[in-house]
Amino acid sequence: MKIAVIGFGAAAIGFIERVKNTDHEIHVFEKSKDIYSSSISGIRADGKLFISKDMGGDIDIDIELQRKLVDFWINKTNTQTIERGHSFNNSDWYKRFYEHGFQPVSSEFFHIGTDQLKEVLYNIFEDFKSHKNIHFHFDHQIIDVQVNDNDVVINNEKDYSFDRAVVSVGRSGHKLVNNMISKYPQLVLDNTRVDLGIRYELPDHIVDELNKEMYEFKVKYKSKTGYMVRTFCNNPSGYVVTENYGDFVTVNGHAKMREKSRNTNFAILTTVKLTEPFNDPIGYGSHIAKMANILAGEGKVILQTYDHFKKSKRTKNLYRVDPTLPDKNFIMGDVNLAFPRRIIESIIDFIDNLDKVVPGVASPDNLVYAPEIKFYSNKLDNQKFQNLQFIGDCSGATRSIIYATAHGHLIGEQYV
Ligand SMILES: Cc1cc2nc3c(=O)[nH]c(=O)nc-3n(C[C@H](O)[C@H](O)[C@H](O)COP(=O)(O)OP(=O)(O)OC[C@H]3O[C@@H](n4cnc5c(N)ncnc54)[C@H](O)[C@@H]3O)c2cc1C
Repeated sequence: MKIAVIGFGAAAIGFIERVKNTDHEIHVFEKSKDIYSSSISGIRADGKLFISKDMGGDIDIDIELQRKLVDFWINKTNTQTIERGHSFNNSDWYKRFYEHGFQPVSSEFFHIGTDQLKEVLYNIFEDFKSHKNIHFHFDHQIIDVQVNDNDVVINNEKDYSFDRAVVSVGRSGHKLVNNMISKYPQLVLDNTRVDLGIRYELPDHIVDELNKEMYEFKVKYKSKTGYMVRTFCNNPSGYVVTENYGDFVTVNGHAKMREKSRNTNFAILTTVKLTEPFNDPIGYGSHIAKMANILAGEGKVILQTYDHFKKSKRTKNLYRVDPTLPDKNFIMGDVNLAFPRRIIESIIDFIDNLDKVVPGVASPDNLVYAPEIKFYSNKLDNQKFQNLQFIGDCSGATRSIIYATAHGHLIGEQYV
């Protein structure tokens, strides 16, 4: 069978790894210039791999498969040097969070680190490239996929006719996915959710005990507003970074294996799930992000102290916590001018409550960066066409490296 794989990220890697030893002729189309390009794949920052039934996506992935895929990734590092941990293995911490209304999320995790991810991607690519049936086409952005009864044609070119197309463009491929949805609206199963929030940064010593115990602490909390709030992507001794979506900028965080800062950062996200007639969570989230960018100036995010965030006062000076995000990427301001009140109240309730479990978390000079937004891709129906499948984050079924890899792996099983 002649198969087009569109996008070369975690999901495509899971798929290709599963089918590489078959007779299928596989063509991988990737918009980035080459394997070294900084825009290739979502697996460029941080590289934290999780084994968990409670996070990472909305499909059921067997724990044994998750473990196998974690080993796959770790084995692709040059030295197999990683950090590892287990959140909420310790029942004392579990109870302390639980008593204050938090729902602790259990997971095992393995941190590869931003600095090692390049070699991982390169090693995988070198292996795939050595298979004669796998052909890479870099610098090929796919803008159109036409599904016919007997083939799938991409970019309207007759030479690009395939028996099957596997779309694995991640969240950065939203343009192609949107295009396909307008053409085939029957693909959409669900689209109502977006996570809006902030990146929070504080000195390591406040969360030292927690970082040592579990590195990544994940908790959910039903705030007084009724919204669910959760922590996401904790980075001990990490760095805050901006993430460019093309027409707006958000904030994110990561940690490196070798270079360390003196601060920990994590996201605090409020899940907004709206009902009919609402059907544009990406539009809603992007507008809020743009509003923050308008206030901060082009390409910048807002930085505010926690005290000012609570009081809705513009921050003009910082006190004891030095931001790890470079000065050129933020402006000190007031996040309250960009975010809806219910989201702000949910976040404040979360932080103040967290302070009861981890004293110092609500210190007035801790840092709030905004906007941090997690978009959920539309949930797409893989049963609609027999010759077209979506895998990984663009399918709406996954949100993490391991779940995306596993999704690719499971779809790959159908071709073996
Ligand atoms: C800053 C950041 C940090 C993250 N850290 C972690 C982490 O530590 N742990 C974790 O589990 N998850 C993390 N994630 C999420 C994780 O990266 C994704 O869940 C995962 O990469 C999804 O895999 P995917 O294959 O679906 O998409 P991706 O890995 O994003 O790959 C998609 C590929 O498709 C290409 N592409 C897009 N559009 C087109 C097109 N039209 N034509 C051709 N090619 C196209 C892209 O260039 C890209 O190479 C992070 C995400 C970000 C943004």
